[in-house]
Amino acid sequence: MKNFKIRFKNKTLEIVNLEDYGFLVEPRYYFYGWSNLKSCYARFSVAKRLLFAKKYLPKGYNFKIWDSFRTKETQKLLRRSFRKRLENLHPEWDSKKILEALNVFTGSPVWKVKKIRLTGHFFGGAVDLTIVNKQGEELDMGTDFDDITERAALHYFKDKRSLNRQEKAVKKSRRLLSKVMKKAGFKSYPAEWWHWSYNK
Ligand SMILES: [Zn+2]
Repeated sequence: MKNFKIRFKNKTLEIVNLEDYGFLVEPRYYFYGWSNLKSCYARFSVAKRLLFAKKYLPKGYNFKIWDSFRTKETQKLLRRSFRKRLENLHPEWDSKKILEALNVFTGSPVWKVKKIRLTGHFFGGAVDLTIVNKQGEELDMGTDFDDITERAALHYFKDKRSLNRQEKAVKKSRRLLSKVMKKAGFKSYPAEWWHWSYNK
């Protein structure tokens, strides 16, 4: 699909295909059957800031994008799946606790979309990504995308008391991701190391 436009308040936002900007894409939600978008799309301003961030990566490294612009329909399917995963992982939790965790890991429910800011997935302002090396292999970040445990927290390994060799490498890789994204003006999300947002 080509680039497209969406409305946010009284602004028209241009949504572009991140593949066209040289990033690797792995549209997970398309693979899962939750999205019809065969690539990963973000707001034009976000694509430009990602190019800026990429300059600070070691030579030959790149970003791999898992998701950015997301429709309400995709969000609905995503929440349905995450709810099941959370219920399976925490059978002792009541529905209130499940809902709290669901909101942490999937963002706002679909019916609250109007209150969402420019920084969210609905306006292509948030991007879920990792770093790949020269060979195109993902750096070890300690968890996969959309992990629903405490290990997904950005500072989990930074705050952990004793780290083994592998965990030390994970900590370093997350620090690299944080450094380059912050330099480009992205904001982190404490619960998910892969989620970064941009407000312009
Ligand atoms: Zn995200």
